[in-house]
Amino acid sequence: MLDYVKRVILVLSGKGGVGKSTVSTQLALTLKESGYRVGLLDIDLCGPSVPYILNLEGQSIHQGPYGWVPVYLDNEQNLGVMSIAFLLESRNDPVIWRGPKKTAMIKQFLEDVCWDELDFLIIDTPPGTSDEHITVMENLRQVPQCSAILVTTPQQVAIEDVRKEITFCKKTGIPILGIIENMSGYECPNCSECTNIFSSGGGKSLAEIAKLKFLGSVPIDPRVGKLAGQGIAAVKEFPDSKTSKVFGELAQSL
Ligand code: ADP
Repeated sequence: MLDYVKRVILVLSGKGGVGKSTVSTQLALTLKESGYRVGLLDIDLCGPSVPYILNLEGQSIHQGPYGWVPVYLDNEQNLGVMSIAFLLESRNDPVIWRGPKKTAMIKQFLEDVCWDELDFLIIDTPPGTSDEHITVMENLRQVPQCSAILVTTPQQVAIEDVRKEITFCKKTGIPILGIIENMSGYECPNCSECTNIFSSGGGKSLAEIAKLKFLGSVPIDPRVGKLAGQGIAAVKEFPDSKTSKVFGELAQSL
């Protein structure tokens, strides 16, 4: 049920492992820290990692009078989470489904989860442009405030795949809020010096070429990796870092 959801933000990437779930969760946590009511829907059916990142593994959802009740991260219920992982018996259970079954599950996530009033619903998607994306796009057309954030790493091979995401969004009519370049250099936690392990600036130049907003560069920061599994916002844990600056500015701009 999306009737009381003010804004939907899809987080997309061309490739897996570029930090899409990290961006989705950090954005959701930053918005919560900023005082918003947030929902985080994980539609990566074959590789749901949001429950792990937010330290919600082993939780399960239950049926309320108006639909599925999300799992809440906090007692105040300002961040609700829905993922297929909450419906599986074991973390190691694989989801081996063909398209129609995936489509039905995502429709159920969109129609049957009782989100209540939300300022933002962040949707973490699987990499690429497959059944899950088509289903979610088709079902979100009626939501007026729906847009996408694209995540890439600086490598050319990841950038090329983001071009496909841009085309996909244009074809499906979803406005793109901008591009985030993740793992953009290594930021030393001690001296804050940044070393460009891969190339750098690819996300920024793609944004310029595609006339999209560049939303910032998140460095490889070991502290970000450590936050995975704890459900803590970088803006709260290490507010002075470059990572926190990117997420703080992004949350403010929405
Ligand atoms: P995706 O959702 O694109 O598959 P993840 O968000 O799961 O990618 O990230 C892949 C791995 O990289 C995870 O272990 C995550 O903790 C780590 N990671 C992502 N972004 C960063 C970063 N900026 N600094 C350090 N580690 C990161």
